[in-house]
Amino acid sequence: MKIPATVITGFLGAGKTTLIRHLLENAGGRRIALVINEFGDLGVDREVITGCAIPGCDADDVVELANGCICCTVADDFLPTMEMLLDRDTPPDHIVIETSGLALPKPLVKAFTWPEIRARVTVDGVIAVVDAPAVAAGRFADDPDAVAGQREAADTLDHHSPLEEVFEDQLLAADMVLLNKADLVDAAGLAAVRRRVEEELPRAVKIVETRHGRLDVNVLLGLLAGAEDDLDARPSHHDGEDDHDHDDFESFEVRLAGSADPDALKFRIEAAARDHGILRVKGFVHVAGKPRRHVIQGVGGRVDGYYDRPWGADETPESRLVVIGLQGLDRAAVTRALQG
Ligand SMILES: [Zn+2]
Repeated sequence: MKIPATVITGFLGAGKTTLIRHLLENAGGRRIALVINEFGDLGVDREVITGCAIPGCDADDVVELANGCICCTVADDFLPTMEMLLDRDTPPDHIVIETSGLALPKPLVKAFTWPEIRARVTVDGVIAVVDAPAVAAGRFADDPDAVAGQREAADTLDHHSPLEEVFEDQLLAADMVLLNKADLVDAAGLAAVRRRVEEELPRAVKIVETRHGRLDVNVLLGLLAGAEDDLDARPSHHDGEDDHDHDDFESFEVRLAGSADPDALKFRIEAAARDHGILRVKGFVHVAGKPRRHVIQGVGGRVDGYYDRPWGADETPESRLVVIGLQGLDRAAVTRALQG
């Protein structure tokens, strides 16, 4: 019998890691292997998952693919990782793949048609996690000025903004869409988000509202989609292209000297996100007098923080943040703004 694999896609900060934490906490005895891919070098998502101390969640079952977006590294990274998981003495019951927020799901689903993988694994489902408040705020809409400019240039083929294009590609591949952070949007806003998502979906796909990524595991897993046999039903902006790139986006790391006051830092991140159009900030912060790491999760202008595991005996407490935005970020100015 083939091992089912679930692909979790969704734009930066939509809540994929939180969803997966919830999934692992409620796995109900399933042995789940997790493949995590993120944009930026810091490896925050794997740390957030393994820092949770979920019983039965073995760090060996969490594999990080750090060499760029998974859609670009299928042959070099993804396929060897899958074979490694499948060749284990006790193979997992289910494989969950968290793609980076900028990854295109279709090339990844396509990788499951490779003979050595197809014989042993099937894509149970592609889950697209949508940041409902971000969609409600119009973050994935066309920039009206850019559209007008391109229409004048008679370029009708592709008028999408980089954000919109990634967002749409993720929806186009989905077997189920989660409207996450639904508690942060009112009923009218949520209805508008649902309409916007339905507009993009190429076929009937279940749409579920979620809060904090909480969803019955039996809804999430077991979709039996066989997505790798169904690629034509999942169009992409990059169909017919040999290659794609992620040049529209960039990331870099900011280190803070010594410890930081989380409230002041939160304020600085919010200001920097507003002033510099940062899409995502995440990382770990050393807070003086606190034995635990402080986790920072910023999406646009909204920043959350919490303490997770204690710093290890072999670790030096430090403060490091990864910043992701559209190409052309003023790194020096952002660094100054975050360092305060
Ligand atoms: Zn790619």
